[in-house]
Amino acid sequence: MQQDCIFCKIASKEIPTKIIYEDEHVMAFPDIKPAAPVHVLVVPKRHIANLCETCSDDITLLGHIMTVIPKIAAQLGVADDGFRTVVNTKDNGGQTVHHIHWHVLGGRFMTWPPG
Ligand code: 5GP
Ligand code: ZN
Repeated sequence: MQQDCIFCKIASKEIPTKIIYEDEHVMAFPDIKPAAPVHVLVVPKRHIANLCETCSDDITLLGHIMTVIPKIAAQLGVADDGFRTVVNTKDNGGQTVHHIHWHVLGGRFMTWPPG
């Protein structure tokens, strides 16, 4: 738990949120400012700042998150039509919350390239 980390507070339920998915290691909840009809954030409960802060000890956790995401997409009804998964990293990546998270966006066609 990192002091003053909003996603640590959400993951520990210090700040209540609608829980879309939860297990021992992972929490998913709606983005406060949705950029698509479905916009969920998937976070590890353990604080990791960003992808650059991961190491080989995190391989199981990272793999787990990648397998949980399609289950969440199916639960939210966007798996059949497809969805986008985004991990913004540091300033140039557009990261604004420094607790690693996967955006899961769906419910509309996603253009490419992103802005
Ligand atoms: P980033 O820009 O770091 O990739 O994504 C951070 C995301 O977190 C943004 O889409 C933003 O809307 C969302 N966000 C920021 N603060 C909160 C919050 O307190 N609660 C929730 N549910 N989402 C948040
Ligand atoms: Zn955190």
